Amino acid sequence: MSKRLVLASNNAKKAVEMQALLAPLGIEVIPQSALGVSEAEEPHATFVENALAKARHAAAATGLPAIADDSGLCVEALGGAPGVQSARFAGEPKSDARNNALLLQKLAGVADRRAYFYSTVVLVRHAEDPRPLIADGEWHGTILEAERGTGGFGYDPLFWLPDLEQTAAELDAGLKNKLSHRGAAMRHLLDSLAHHPL
Ligand code: IMP
Repeated sequence: MSKRLVLASNNAKKAVEMQALLAPLGIEVIPQSALGVSEAEEPHATFVENALAKARHAAAATGLPAIADDSGLCVEALGGAPGVQSARFAGEPKSDARNNALLLQKLAGVADRRAYFYSTVVLVRHAEDPRPLIADGEWHGTILEAERGTGGFGYDPLFWLPDLEQTAAELDAGLKNKLSHRGAAMRHLLDSLAHHPL
């Protein structure tokens, strides 16, 4: 019988991606919205604290193990900003177009354009789990001076991969999943689950 795991996110694409990765381990991923769980607050200054808060919230509401991720773009010349504020860098309502415009504005005339995407994935077996499984991943590149490409989402059109000579928005989705911060974090989590099964 498969084990049920709540995904503390309402992003349907994430649910499909995680289900595909976890199905071979006999784990069924259930989006929290399907169980009537509200979105948790993400008030913290670090990715891992936010991911943990989301996972604990979903586990507490359902009594099931829960998994959550938190991710964003860290720009070296901006001291790691937008970081945990990536989704709302240019304020409410969330807008990728305004976030990208603000990023270009802040980097106008800046020579050091190094940046990386970062993702943390956290799995708790129950809300009070003292030993959550925590995995992360990074994806390094630079920030262009104008957008390129129409794929992906968020900051992808500005995120340049020097080795591939493409932006993340120009990569096909399969390749992006292989190379990305989220892909790396999920692979690390699967390794960890192999040693600490649900
Ligand atoms: P979340 O953790 O999925 O909510 O992502 C937070 C924010 O980080 C997104 O709204 C994007 O602005 C940014 N972000 C995270 N991952 C990516 C990515 O793979 N490409 C582009 N932007 C991303």
